[in-house]
Amino acid sequence: MPPVWSSELIRLAAIVAAGGAVGWLYDYPAVGMLIAVTGLLAWHVYNLYRLDLWLRTGKLTITPDGPGVWPPVFARIEYIREKSRRRRNRWRQLVRELRASAGAFPDGGVLLNARHEIVTYNLAAQRLLGLRRNRDRGQRIENLLRHPDFVAFLSAESGQASVEIPGPTGGDTWISCLLIPYGPEQMLLLVRDVTENVRLERMRRDFVANASHELRTPLTVISGYLDAIADDVEAPASWRMPVSEMRAQAHRMGNLLDDLLQLSRLESGAPCSTEHAVDIGSVLQAARKEILAMSGRSGPVQVMLGSTARILGDAGEIHSIVSNLLSNAVRYTPEDGTITVSWRADADGGQLAVIDSGIGIAEDEITRVTERFYRTDAGRALQKSGTGLGLAIVKHALRRHEADLEIQSRLGEGSTFTCHFPPHRIALIS
Ligand code: ADP
Repeated sequence: MPPVWSSELIRLAAIVAAGGAVGWLYDYPAVGMLIAVTGLLAWHVYNLYRLDLWLRTGKLTITPDGPGVWPPVFARIEYIREKSRRRRNRWRQLVRELRASAGAFPDGGVLLNARHEIVTYNLAAQRLLGLRRNRDRGQRIENLLRHPDFVAFLSAESGQASVEIPGPTGGDTWISCLLIPYGPEQMLLLVRDVTENVRLERMRRDFVANASHELRTPLTVISGYLDAIADDVEAPASWRMPVSEMRAQAHRMGNLLDDLLQLSRLESGAPCSTEHAVDIGSVLQAARKEILAMSGRSGPVQVMLGSTARILGDAGEIHSIVSNLLSNAVRYTPEDGTITVSWRADADGGQLAVIDSGIGIAEDEITRVTERFYRTDAGRALQKSGTGLGLAIVKHALRRHEADLEIQSRLGEGSTFTCHFPPHRIALIS
């Protein structure tokens, strides 16, 4: 037992004994003891009352002093209150600093609960999304950002890591949204102003499209003169080789301009309409014939039609996808190799695959081959003609059909390029 309590017990016993002794002097020891006990009880009740008042109102006029248990009890409570007051101040300070640093953040942050309701947000989010303090807290984010791409992104339908949408505050502003789940069901929505990037990207696209368009006229003139020189029987024989090389390069340059124009058109386009149903069987046969005629390949190119389903989209772009994949397969597969184009579709979507047993692609290059002008080491070593834009065109044309390109390949063993179309882009024909 702490010393303060043992001395309190001794003091209690002493007071009661003193009361008894005084009462004994008057022949009433019990009455003397009773008066002492009542006095002690009154003292403790008085101190309990003061303690209760202090805890309830925080007011303590006189701090108990002197001997007894009450002064240390009051002192201990005061010590605990002071400690929690300091801790509370520290937390307040920390929250204030966190708020200030979140406020200084250039990117917007919005905390969402499981029902996508806004819990809190920082200054940048307020500015970028046009949020209003009293009106928007507790609102569902879909009610404020109604762009279909954002709604699909939020419901995880699109499977994208982030989405770019026009800013809700109007003007030609663009924002990029990224969702970071945290805690059991909460989410942090990060919003970044990408207006400048979108503007630069648009400028780059326009520049490429305009430059390609402008280069076409001089190239047509040059090609015309080269054709005329090639056809001129009186032209010196020593010109034949350089003229033929110049015609080949002019032809290649023409293809490059065509591909650049096609790419910039595809890049700037939104998803294409689902109004037209494209007959895949005829597209595959036509592309096969065209590629075989152009390449002069004698090895087999098989077409396997596993479905009569059609793709809802743009026939020209589907043709471009197939002919780019097929011309690559023909270019990078030796004559004795096999090439197969297949089409399958069911309720889960459609798969268009071009499979070859050609030179293959190294594992670390697979993710890069769809970049513009990227050529693999093996592809470059073969010195095959090509613009380096074929797979970039395929990727963007597929994106316009909300489809993905999957590439499986092993160096020296061959490649499989599979285009996965979502179910709503497939028209099943029974
Ligand atoms: P290119 O006009 O050079 O073929 P692409 O964009 O179509 O441009 O292809 C990019 C690169 O990917 C090619 O240069 C080649 O290295 C590689 N590649 C594409 N298709 C195949 C394939 N079927 N087999 C092996 N490598 C391929």
